[in-house]
Amino acid sequence: MSRVALLEERITEFLKNLNEPIPQFELAKRLNVDSRLISRALARLEKKGIIKRRKTTIRGKHTFLIYPLSLYYLSKSPEIPCFYCSHLEVCGKDSNYDPSKCEKLFKWLIEISKELD
Ligand code: SF4
Repeated sequence: MSRVALLEERITEFLKNLNEPIPQFELAKRLNVDSRLISRALARLEKKGIIKRRKTTIRGKHTFLIYPLSLYYLSKSPEIPCFYCSHLEVCGKDSNYDPSKCEKLFKWLIEISKELD
């Protein structure tokens, strides 16, 4: 198994116990790993759909926040349009407001799926 593949396993294991996103440099520090190597492993994990990286700036330093994918979805849930919709209580199948035909919900799903590409 390659060095990067081994590191992918270590990262995946570490992230299982995480309740919040972690900056990439912090993850490298905690795992005592070179920043270039961790960057390669994280890119591979993102491609496999195991994590999501989001660009951020911390104390003037550009970095990525690393989210296990399940945590990333949770972080996006407050943006679901239904939470702010005046039709939420009457929305449902066979109602005038049907989620399967809702343009607002459809647009939101398209946006989130683009982020995951
Ligand atoms: S599916 Fe559409 S209409 Fe229904 S609650 Fe969500 S945003 Fe509102």
